[in-house]
Parts: sequence; structure tokens; C-alpha cells
Amino acid sequence: MNTENLLKKASLETLLAVFFNSSQKPNGNFAVQTNYRKGTSKYFEKIILNPSSYQDTAKRLSKKYNLDFKQVSSTIVEAEIINERSYTLDEFTSAVYESILPKLTFATNYDIELAKALFVFRGSPDFTLSFYSVDLKHPSESYNDNLFKLLLSTDELLSRLNLNFRELQPEYVNGIAKRNTQIRINLKWYYENVAKTEILNEFKYDVMAQNYTNLGEIRKPGSFEERWILYRQSILNRQLSSSEINSMRDALNFTSKEAEEHPENTFTVRNQKIVAYARETFADICVGCHHKYHIKDRSFLMPRNNRYYFEINHVIPYANDSKAVDVLDNLVKLCPICHRALTPNRAFPELQKEIIKNELDSRPEVKQFVLSKMPNPTLSPVDYIYGLLK
Ligand SMILES: [Zn+2]
Repeated sequence: MNTENLLKKASLETLLAVFFNSSQKPNGNFAVQTNYRKGTSKYFEKIILNPSSYQDTAKRLSKKYNLDFKQVSSTIVEAEIINERSYTLDEFTSAVYESILPKLTFATNYDIELAKALFVFRGSPDFTLSFYSVDLKHPSESYNDNLFKLLLSTDELLSRLNLNFRELQPEYVNGIAKRNTQIRINLKWYYENVAKTEILNEFKYDVMAQNYTNLGEIRKPGSFEERWILYRQSILNRQLSSSEINSMRDALNFTSKEAEEHPENTFTVRNQKIVAYARETFADICVGCHHKYHIKDRSFLMPRNNRYYFEINHVIPYANDSKAVDVLDNLVKLCPICHRALTPNRAFPELQKEIIKNELDSRPEVKQFVLSKMPNPTLSPVDYIYGLLK
């Protein structure tokens, strides 16, 4: 398997597994690995490793992810991906992210498949604190940003996770130890809903199965968004005011409660969650007209947070394919006038196309997302979106 084949042909599950578990080998190729390091946990010592379990895991992972997993040492099973385009790890994971986006149809168990890709290969359970944790391989800002966007598109998984950013750990700040960013999930929920439902990694599964009574209770850590806000503030230099933080917190909490009480509405709920996140975190400019007008001439201040009122627009209109366009990279902020102008036949086509062009140019990931969704690559992206207005 080389990167081109992978990016073009791999399934959503495979791309997720590659996104979360790739590292770069000394020969420049990429490896998706699972390891059998016993570590210091007494629970791991109890498991007697059967030599056939390496082959068994390699077989199961190969079948599931359609990659060629092999045992490469006494502790590692890996699938190698040929890096024929000489990508850096950052370029490679960005390309994988871009291939994932158009596949997010959500109809096929996205929460569970994402949790498998995230936790099945690596990580370990903590029976005292009752979580399963994994260290992220690759802690760059763009990687973390893409990671969060993938998690934001889940139905309820986000609210079961807890995030421990390397940059927020006291050991890191004080230069004592540089642990990677760590993601944790409630252990019992993970075992019941993910690990047990399809055994892909016998060794890690056995550790949990043999300590079943120690798994603790299913409870939500519920602090993922909080940690993310903190991370954005301290790392990405995006200062949010306390009223902004409060309204983001409210919006995200509200939507996860909604998801729990009305699971049949998850599409709507997810959309609300993503829109709320975009509303609070995107810069307060209208991407359609800020080159021409001051926002005070196009909108009004809201007393609740002293910010200008904006509307969130789906660049590929929501009504067209509501499941697949429901991702952060498809959203932009518009003033109410530009948003209205995109109603069919309400404004002249020249103005509508100008706003669409400005939307596409507002962030590279917006254009990338639209290009990835276009069935006919000879059309211009502006004409494609214009044709979808209805
Ligand atoms: Zn505008």
C-alpha cells in the first residue's frame, strides 16, 4: 500500500486508524502500529502472551482495515505505508484528514468506528481511575485542530472523552517531562460498546476482560470542551472572553443533553453543536463582505456578549446532503445581509457568486472541502455552489 492508493481507496475506518496511529519510520515510510509492551501495570503482567496472538491480531487488523499487518519485532505488529510522495508526517496526516471529510456520511456507526481507530491499537486501561487512555502520536497544532474537528462531528462520543493536552500539563510547562497529548475515555463504556463488540486486539482486550469487575461505572468525564477551550486560549493564542466561554459551554452542554434525551434527533443535535462551536470561535468578520463594509453598517451588537450578530452559513447548503456537509470545514460566518443575499433569486447572480467566492477563499480548508465533494471537477467551485442554492 502506498499513500496514493490509501488516500484514494481506503475506507473511512482505515483512514481513521491511519490518522490516529501513524508514525514515520527511519526509512521515511509510515507505520500504523500496535504494540505489546507490558509497561509497569500489574494488570498487564498477568496476561500470558501466546505467540499465536501476534499473528491473530495481525490477521484481525488486516481483515478489518484492509492493510497488511505483520509482526515486525517481539513487541510490535505494524502495517507499513510506502511514502512515495515524500510527505512529512504533518503533510501525510493532513492529507488523510482531507480524505476522511467527504466520507463522513455518519450513517455507519461513526462514533464507534472512531473510538476503535483511536483506542484499539494503543493505550492502556487505568482500573483505579476507570479510564482507558492513549497518547497522541503527533502533537502539532494543525493535527490537534483536525483531530478536534473529527471528534466534533461525532454524535455523543465527544462528551465521553477527556483530553489532557501536553502543553497544559505541569510537567511540560516546567520542562520536567514531555508527555504527548493524551485522550481518555470512560473504561466501562469503552469496554462495553467498543472493545467487546469486535475483538481486534486480543492482548488489550484480555487485560480488560480479566479485570472486568474493576472497570468501574459508566460516567461521563464531560470536560473535553473545557480542556479544548483552555487549549485554544493558551496554545493557539485565541483569547476568548469569559462571556464567550460561557456561551460556548452552554451551547455544547445543551446539545449533548439534547442528544441523550432525544437520540432520534442526533443529526440536528450534531449540527447545533457544530454551529454553536463555529459561532463562538470563528473570528467576528463577515467573510462575504468585510473587504467592502464595516460590520457596524451590516449588523448590530448583542448585549449578551457585546459581539456583533452573525449567521453561520453552510457553504455547501445544509439541505443538499445534511449528513455529509455537517462538518466545521463547511461553515463560515456571514453578516445577515450577505446570508439573505444567498437566497435564490433574491440578489443578482453576480453578487451571489462574489459572496460564494469570498466564502471559498476565507479558509483553505473550506475550498478543500468543497473540491472534495464536487462530482464534476471541470465545473468551477463557485458555479458548483451557485447551482446548489435553492
Ligand atoms: Zn456580509
